[in-house]
Amino acid sequence: MESNTGNEGNVVRSVQVIVVGAGAAGVGVAVALSDAGVTDLLVVDRYTVGASFALWPAETRFITPSFPTNSVGMLDLNSIAIGVSPAYSLEVEHPTGLEYGEHLRGVAEHFEVPVWEGVSVETVVRTPDGFHLHTDQGTIHAKYVVWAVGEFQYPRDSGFEGASLCRHTATVEHYAALEGDDFVIIGGYESGVDAAYHLAQRGKRVQLLDSDCPWESEDSDPSVALATFTLERMREPSFDSHVELFADTTVTKVEAIDGGFQITTADGHTLHSPVPPLLASGFVGGHALVADLFEKRKDGYPLLNQHDESTTTPGLYLSGPAVRHGNNIFCFIFKYRQRFAVVAKSIATALGLPAEGLETYRAWGMFLDDLTVCGEDCVC
Ligand SMILES: Cc1cc2nc3c(=O)[nH]c(=O)nc-3n(C[C@H](O)[C@H](O)[C@H](O)COP(=O)(O)OP(=O)(O)OC[C@H]3O[C@@H](n4cnc5c(N)ncnc54)[C@H](O)[C@@H]3O)c2cc1C
Repeated sequence: MESNTGNEGNVVRSVQVIVVGAGAAGVGVAVALSDAGVTDLLVVDRYTVGASFALWPAETRFITPSFPTNSVGMLDLNSIAIGVSPAYSLEVEHPTGLEYGEHLRGVAEHFEVPVWEGVSVETVVRTPDGFHLHTDQGTIHAKYVVWAVGEFQYPRDSGFEGASLCRHTATVEHYAALEGDDFVIIGGYESGVDAAYHLAQRGKRVQLLDSDCPWESEDSDPSVALATFTLERMREPSFDSHVELFADTTVTKVEAIDGGFQITTADGHTLHSPVPPLLASGFVGGHALVADLFEKRKDGYPLLNQHDESTTTPGLYLSGPAVRHGNNIFCFIFKYRQRFAVVAKSIATALGLPAEGLETYRAWGMFLDDLTVCGEDCVC
């Protein structure tokens, strides 16, 4: 992606603030911007509101539970805006992606978020007075950009020889529709265990490989250790009887051999799978598209200032699961929503708006000013 040239293009729209991506992060940050008093606002999405959620495998459910807690001033863990609760609107504790996408569309409508669907942003270019976003619908000019394109549509499908022979779990529509009785899954964090669970429930045998041992992590942070929901699933009899766990097993090569697949590990062992191995190795993330407008942290994620703004490109903000500060990983909704008001306040203040409407966020336990998160020594 080209993001450093000044090609003017044909400007079809000009706004003060644009949010790219109408997922949980994009819609949530847009509501906060609106609460901050920003009126000249546009959200664009290459597909529709909540499109990534609609693309999840049909059986996959939220691991974070929903519960309607608003009456005591606490947000539902999966809520992206004050006053709404997926538990209340969907009457489901662990929604599927399809259900949550439907909830997001309801939230966008309720808060009258100005969304332009079917606009794919291809390049972002810094201009003297803001940014040009070159899209498949023409060029949009904006003074401030919030990049919220998520991770799901940008899977990591490389990393070892023959990785392209595997099938990433992000491309699976239904686990029930996968042909075969024996599966190898590479990656044993949430998506890998989720795939193993659904296959085991259908009587399939699974070998689940991970270069580490996520199912025995003693970390209390669900961004590092498996969620309680997942650990409960792993204790179900079908999982125990059908899934073989291989910890500390790094895959170095996958080859197509004799109509099947041979998987070679770093310690020289081989496994065989009659069907393409499933890859649950995470996501490159959509922040890669604008990588040259951010400095990089050591872990490869964008380096952000205390307002979640690029340290090298003022006016460009990041929202969503790729946000990192120190050791803090904001990869769940209940984590990255903590940053919505921080971004909104920074942009509103730059536009000369008082942003008084954001004071409510503090009352709901959301961050507004400084980075109020646990540090390295946290034992929570
Ligand atoms: C299988 C799975 C299960 C998960 N379960 C949970 C869970 O239980 N709880 C939880 O809190 N988190 C969960 N997560 C974490 C997840 O990352 C977030 O909850 C959420 O999907 C991120 O929201 P987002 O808005 O950043 O990204 P997305 O939901 O991916 O939204 C990004 C939007 O941007 C659009 N877009 C992408 N590229 C462009 C472009 N170039 N131009 C225009 N538009 C673009 C897309 O169409 C999409 O609508 C899960 C993730 C996965 C993959």
